[in-house]
Amino acid sequence: MTSRLTDLIDEILALVLAASCAGCDRIGAVLCPSCRRALRAAPLTVRTPGGQSVRAAMEFTGVGARCIRALKGAGQTRLAAPLGAALAAVIDLEGLDGVVPIPTSRAAFRARGYRVPETLLRAAGASPLRMLRHVGRHRDQRGAGVEERARNVRGSFVARPTRATRVVLMDDVVTTGATLDEGCRVLGEAGVEVVGAIALAATPRRFRFPADSAATHP
Ligand SMILES: [Zn+2]
Repeated sequence: MTSRLTDLIDEILALVLAASCAGCDRIGAVLCPSCRRALRAAPLTVRTPGGQSVRAAMEFTGVGARCIRALKGAGQTRLAAPLGAALAAVIDLEGLDGVVPIPTSRAAFRARGYRVPETLLRAAGASPLRMLRHVGRHRDQRGAGVEERARNVRGSFVARPTRATRVVLMDDVVTTGATLDEGCRVLGEAGVEVVGAIALAATPRRFRFPADSAATHP
């Protein structure tokens, strides 16, 4: 073998070995076969403080949460395909004009170079209806409670006029649901009927209003 070819093989091996699974850190692939299986959709329904029902493809825990964080925070766009496949399980467009993603702030778009909800929707085979625009300042919602999140997101979006009249709203991760409620309010004021909401993942129960909240949250 020529030394140039050996060098090339060494370089390729180094690249392959440098990849580690986003779900479990195992070396060798962006997503190992067992984590790929763990990303299969296991849909659940949660409810926002405003009463909107949200169908999520998975709970925001374990392998799913790690992969979503890697997509959102570490630029791992190759994870959009397996995550989008899970999201597809909760997309049902019958009788609807389409899916409206929660818009990305300019700051978040500048930082990542892509819009997470739109990227996921495209990976799920749906084309995003850009009917909301982000006009507020970007705030980090991590650690904020239900009321604080609702206050932070208030006034962050404006509706863009389109011909669509019946839609579902979509976010990547639903925590309290305040963001989806605000999107729903803004679209509703623009005369658009939001028949439901979907999300790739919903945070575990302790962070949100349970769907069957009557007994515990009067
Ligand atoms: Zn793995």
